[in-house]
Amino acid sequence: FQPLTRRSFLSGTAAAGAVILLHPFSARAQANQAHLRIMETTDIHVNVLPYDYYGDKPNDTMGLSRTATLIDAVRKEATNAMLVDNGDFLQGNPMGDFVAYERGMKEGDLHPVVKAMNLLGYDASTLGNHEFNYGLPFLRRSIAGANFPYVNANVYVDDKDKDSASAKHAFTPYVLLDRMVKDAQGKSYPIKVGVIGFVPPQIMQWDKANLEGRVVTRDIAEVAKKYVPEMRAKGAQLVIAIPHSGFEKGEVGALAENAVSRLADVPGIDAILFGHSHAEFPSKAFATFPRADVERGTINGVAAVMPGRWGDHLGVVDFTLDNGSGSWKVVGSQSSIRPIFDRVAKKSIAEADPLVEKTVGEEHAQT
Ligand code: MN
Ligand code: MG
Repeated sequence: FQPLTRRSFLSGTAAAGAVILLHPFSARAQANQAHLRIMETTDIHVNVLPYDYYGDKPNDTMGLSRTATLIDAVRKEATNAMLVDNGDFLQGNPMGDFVAYERGMKEGDLHPVVKAMNLLGYDASTLGNHEFNYGLPFLRRSIAGANFPYVNANVYVDDKDKDSASAKHAFTPYVLLDRMVKDAQGKSYPIKVGVIGFVPPQIMQWDKANLEGRVVTRDIAEVAKKYVPEMRAKGAQLVIAIPHSGFEKGEVGALAENAVSRLADVPGIDAILFGHSHAEFPSKAFATFPRADVERGTINGVAAVMPGRWGDHLGVVDFTLDNGSGSWKVVGSQSSIRPIFDRVAKKSIAEADPLVEKTVGEEHAQT
């Protein structure tokens, strides 16, 4: 079938066979219930455009401009939706190197990836390990231009003091976002959504020259155990973790790079929107992992998703929330990933969003 253009979505003249259906969680919500879907992108690695800079040719298996078309569609299927990014957006292709090493980021400059993300209505993002590759001043100037918050809870300022109680966070550890959710009867109620982010502690080795003496890192799960209860105590009705960290099959220990299995043990987290491994969860690849349910998309019963890399998938966690008690609670979830490319038919299933493409057109040409 012909993929829809952004224009046809916006004008509501969807082509035959591409009618937008309301998701079952939205259609089936009972009185006092609401359908909230959380979307995730991860490991974009500067791939805003579906373009292979090494081959100097288009590549329709990648690119945030194509994921953007899925984001539009997925939003339209649900009564309520939010969007987060898991990090590793700043480095990874020649456009990233061009901005870092040739053009530079002066105070007030907008990074092309951040410009593109600003168009898509992100609610929050976190920092991946590659965000540290060009140094802290470059990172800070890049994220300063975002119209959404960046959260990281396990990087602290190195205060040269072993008294950990006084340590300061290097970034905003978490946010409590006030949103409205519309229930089955069309009435809107406030919800407080907590979003917390983490990075592999190994950035201290991988980017030693940029970070030593400036920041220190702590264990992802230990930091979560401290802050998730704090977020709940401050009124978070839904807690979303965005660890830039993968899911390993075996046991992992303290300071693990891939800490998702340990994070799934921390009480109070409703969803783990993860990344870093460039893999796809839920999928058959994880079917034999202990405590993973690849049908529902959970790890230890916690809704979880990892949408590949370079924008090749959009991660989606669908929640049914219930407000019967006067406070929103999760009563059901389903996680899934949506591809931009059909690997069997070898066909694109998401056109590139022209507005997203246009916004980075100059930097693309310069690259
Ligand atoms: Mn990555
Ligand atoms: Mg990474």
